[in-house]
Amino acid sequence: MPLSKQREALKEAARLLRDSRAKAQDVPPDVKSSSSDDDDDDTASLVTAVKILKKCHAECAESATSTAVVTLDDIDTLLTVFIELVDPDTPVYTRAVERNLMRKFSSHKHVFDDKVQGFIHQNYSSKNEESKDNFRTALRRTSLVQRCVKAFKGSRLATPDSVYAASRRRQRSNARSEKRHSLDGSPERSYPIGTLEAYWAADQTASFLLVKKELSKISTWSFNVLELSKVQSADALLIVGCTCFDAEGLTRHFHIPAPVLRAFYFGVQAKYLPNPYHNAEHAADVTQCVHHFLTLGGLGTQISMRGKLAALIAASVHDIGHTGFSNNFHIATNDALAIRYAFRSPLENMHCAVAFELLQQKECDILATLNDLEKIEVRGLIIDMILATDNKNHAIHLGRLDGLLQSADEDQTDFSSLDDQKLLLQVALHAADVCNPVKPMDIYAVWTSRVMEEFYAQGDNERELGLPVSFGCDRVNPIPEAKMQAGFIIGIVRPVFETLAKVPKVSLKHCLDQVERNLAHWQDQLTPPPPVVT
Ligand code: AMP
Ligand code: ZN
Repeated sequence: MPLSKQREALKEAARLLRDSRAKAQDVPPDVKSSSSDDDDDDTASLVTAVKILKKCHAECAESATSTAVVTLDDIDTLLTVFIELVDPDTPVYTRAVERNLMRKFSSHKHVFDDKVQGFIHQNYSSKNEESKDNFRTALRRTSLVQRCVKAFKGSRLATPDSVYAASRRRQRSNARSEKRHSLDGSPERSYPIGTLEAYWAADQTASFLLVKKELSKISTWSFNVLELSKVQSADALLIVGCTCFDAEGLTRHFHIPAPVLRAFYFGVQAKYLPNPYHNAEHAADVTQCVHHFLTLGGLGTQISMRGKLAALIAASVHDIGHTGFSNNFHIATNDALAIRYAFRSPLENMHCAVAFELLQQKECDILATLNDLEKIEVRGLIIDMILATDNKNHAIHLGRLDGLLQSADEDQTDFSSLDDQKLLLQVALHAADVCNPVKPMDIYAVWTSRVMEEFYAQGDNERELGLPVSFGCDRVNPIPEAKMQAGFIIGIVRPVFETLAKVPKVSLKHCLDQVERNLAHWQDQLTPPPPVVT
C-alpha cells in the first residue's frame, strides 16, 4: 500500500471528523483517494470510512435537526477503522502481517485446527489472549471512539463483538491466492581454508577431504552442516564460522588475527549446551544460511562490511547458552532467567549477555580493531538482531520490512541508512533461524525430529510441574506432523522468505521453490475440505 495514499486518507478522515464536530455548513470536497480500487485493506477501509463520514456530514448539514441515519454496518466499518487508529502500539504493517495470518487460518482450515493455531499464537504473536481482552476493555474507554460514537448519537451502536465480526468478514472476503515459483539452483564456489590453515595442517585424512568438499559449497544453499558434523561434530560451528568470515573477506577487511577468530569460535561453541536442537550445530546452520543470503543470495549488495560482520557474529551467538526450554516456559515457571530479564525475551537477552562476556576476553575479541564508534554500531546491530530472534517479534519486523519495501517502491529508498540495514539483517537472521523447512526434505526431517524431541522434553517437564502443556509439546496428544509443519510453513516460514525475496537485488527463488515442494509433501497427507458450492 503506498504510504502517501494512506497518509492522505488518514488526514482526510481526521479533517472530516473535525468538520463534523464543528458542524460546518459546506460539504467537504471529494477525497482524492476515494476512487482507489487498490486491493489494500487499510487504505480501502479508511476510504470507506471517510465516505461514510462524508455522507453523514452532508445529511446532517441538510437536516433541520442536524442529524443523520447511520446503518449498523456503517458503524461497524467506522469502529473497525478507529480501532486501528487508536492502537498506536501496533504499526499498520504489523497489523497487516497479523491479518494475513488470520486469513490463512480461515483459508486453510484443514491445517489450522485449534492446536496448530495455538502453536502459532503461543510462539509467534506478541499479543496473548489476555492482552487482547485488555485491549478491548481499553478500547471501550478510549475517548476518541467515545467522541466518534457521540458524533452519531441516535444511531444504533455496534457491540465490540460485532465490530470484530465485521473485520473477520472482511478478512475472509479478501483472501489472496498463493504465489508459485520455479527452480533456480545456486552455483558452487570454493574458498581457501585461511583461518583454519594451522588447524588443518597435519590433517590430510579421508575425513579432512570430506570436510573440504562440503566447505567448497559454503556459500550455496546445498551446503549441509549435517554432513560436516558426521566427521567434525564438535567443531562444526568453529569450521563454518571461520570459513564464512574468510569467504566474505571479513577477516582481511577488519584485520582479525586468525588465532583470535579461532579462539572466539572455540569459546562460542563451548558455551552452547548439548540440547537436541538448540545446540552449536543449529548455530552453524544459521550462520551458513545468513552467509548464503549475504553472498549468493544477493543481500550483501545492500549491506556494509560492518553490517556483514555483525550479521555473522549475531547468527553464530544467537542461541548461545540456550537452555532447551522456551521463553514461555521460563516465564511460566518464574525461574531465575525470567526474573533476571524482567520476563522480557529472557533467552535472547541472555544470549546477548553471554556473547558480550566472551567478547570482553582479549584473546576472543574479534572487534578489537574497530574504533569506538564502529564498535558501538556493530554492538547495536548484533544486539538488535539477536533480540529480533524472539519469535514473538515475527509480525513486527516482517511488517516493518513490508512497509519499507512498499515505501521503497514509492520513494526509491536505497536501504543505505543504518536503520534500514538493521531491519534487513533482523529479518534475514529470523529467516535463517526458521530455514530448516526450506532445506531438502532429508535435511529438514533431521531438524524437525530434533526440534520435536526438545519440545516434547519441555512438555514432559510442564506435565510434571502441573503446568498446562504448551502447544506442540505434548507427546501424549501430539499435533500430527503434517499439520504442524504445513501450519509452520504457511503461517511463518513462507511469508518470511517471500518478504526477504522481495528485497531489491536479492535472489532467493530456489528457497521459495524448495519450501513449496516441502509444503506440497505435507499437504498431500492432509485432506482439504470439499469446495463450497455457491
Ligand atoms: P530459535 O529458538 O531462535 O531457534 O527460533 C526458531 C524457532 O522456530 C524454534 O524455537 C522452534 O520453535 C521453531 N522451529 C524451527 N524449526 C521448526 C520446525 N521444523 N517445526 C516447528 N517449529 C520449528
Ligand atoms: Zn535459533
